[in-house]
Amino acid sequence: MSMPTPRQRHVPIRTCVGCRQERPKRELVRVVRTPTGEITIDLTGKAAGRGAYLCRAADCWTAALKRDALARALRTTLTPEDREALLRARDAVLAAGAPGGGGR
Ligand SMILES: [Zn+2]
Repeated sequence: MSMPTPRQRHVPIRTCVGCRQERPKRELVRVVRTPTGEITIDLTGKAAGRGAYLCRAADCWTAALKRDALARALRTTLTPEDREALLRARDAVLAAGAPGGGGR
């Protein structure tokens, strides 16, 4: 990577439902409840439905599921299947590469 980081101008900020920290939207992963009630990861950020944002950090996903913060943010109830799917999605997202990585 030799390209310098582009200057940020008017970056949309969202709050992670796991750690409650505000971060640039593009650093977060959007989880969306579709109009049909499916819980899915929205990698495009454009899917219709109610969205919630999570850091690319396993802890945030775990916390959001444990405290039911994600369900609340999505105004739904997560089934065991939803939770499993989310944990799989989390692993996929994290495996795809977390910017920076390490630390906490
Ligand atoms: Zn977080």
